[in-house]
Amino acid sequence: MGNEKHPQIRCPIPKCGEVLRKPERVMGGYSMGICPDHKKVFVKTPPFKNITPPEGQSMDDGRRLRDEGMALVNEHEDPAWQDEADRVIRELAYSGVAFTAQDLTNRIGMPTRPNAVGARFSAAARQGIIEDVGYAQSTRAARHASRMLVWRGTIEARTH
Ligand SMILES: [Zn+2]
Repeated sequence: MGNEKHPQIRCPIPKCGEVLRKPERVMGGYSMGICPDHKKVFVKTPPFKNITPPEGQSMDDGRRLRDEGMALVNEHEDPAWQDEADRVIRELAYSGVAFTAQDLTNRIGMPTRPNAVGARFSAAARQGIIEDVGYAQSTRAARHASRMLVWRGTIEARTH
């Protein structure tokens, strides 16, 4: 029996799923809670938006955004790595599982410039293939107080 004011939310980090303590709603459509393993965790609520284009936005806009996303390929970056990254991100998106950038780099390694990792995820998000479902402060990379974003294929991608 869940408390209606504070519905049970779970840690979105892949393979975690712990029930978060002290859940509360915060700005930007997120709920925040404490995971025993990942400390402060933010979960997008509701996790998946309806992917119907907003009022005034047509499917042509979607196509245009997709083209712009493709234009985001950085010509100074190893093109083979970028192609491989896009392929793996799509594969992860279609699988329906939650994943992080680490799932990508575990499979295909790091690019010459680490920034390219985020760039491929941004491009996929712009193309409507993936969306973020939450994040935690990265516990491993203590040198960067970076967010560990958790991604999942959009409904469109998962029912592709
Ligand atoms: Zn966790």
